Amino acid sequence: MGAIPTNDGATLVGAYFPQHRFGQVRGDALGALLDAVGKTAPELREQMADGHMVERLHGTGDQRNFFRKAAGSGWVLVGDAGHHKDSITARGITDAFRQVQLLVDCVGDGLHDPRLLGRALDSFAVRRDDLLMADYRNTLTTAALAASKHQIDLLRVIAGSAELTDRYFSAMSGACPADEFVTPELLDLLASG
Ligand SMILES: Cc1cc2nc3c(=O)[nH]c(=O)nc-3n(C[C@H](O)[C@H](O)[C@H](O)COP(=O)(O)OP(=O)(O)OC[C@H]3O[C@@H](n4cnc5c(N)ncnc54)[C@H](O)[C@@H]3O)c2cc1C
Repeated sequence: MGAIPTNDGATLVGAYFPQHRFGQVRGDALGALLDAVGKTAPELREQMADGHMVERLHGTGDQRNFFRKAAGSGWVLVGDAGHHKDSITARGITDAFRQVQLLVDCVGDGLHDPRLLGRALDSFAVRRDDLLMADYRNTLTTAALAASKHQIDLLRVIAGSAELTDRYFSAMSGACPADEFVTPELLDLLASG
């Protein structure tokens, strides 16, 4: 679950549930959310009790994961249209920008030359998948909500440090490279338990 500051001083509180619980959660979405927050973050649940809902709940049980054919003669897909994945790693906007940057790099000065443009779009299609595949797989693993003991240990260490927590979410969302998160300092912390 997460609590994210948003517009007009409001806070968005969201929770992820295993897909197989979708029907049950949908039957009482507010109850399921409050229950999840109460179990995972009791202090936040108390804060919520003092607040009020400013909008109805939104939810989905259909977060599709795909790579579509990237381009053809005279057309190209970028952003969610070409590639979509579960929102849990919060990478969609970052990856949309990465796709567009890659497309611009591939096309270069070739926009008005059909031969060059065709080659550029072919190149974009291959390089797009290379660019996004590792993070796509990581998102699918995270979305399974089945963290290993090693991952739970890692998250416990991260949760003890505001700086590590910031770096973890930045790396997860693609805002900073993974090697800025996995530092010798983090490895030392993990080794010391
Ligand atoms: C719950 C949730 C949380 C998320 N959280 C994050 C996050 O924290 N960080 C992050 O990076 N990403 C997040 N994402 C993903 C992110 O929102 C998307 O990846 C991103 O918005 C994709 O941008 P896009 O421009 O490709 O598509 P969109 O933002 O969907 O834009 C497409 C636009 O095209 C319009 N449109 C559709 N059909 C037509 C038509 N026929 N004619 C004209 N217009 C049309 C639509 O109305 C829409 O405005 C989240 C997604 C969800 C569902």
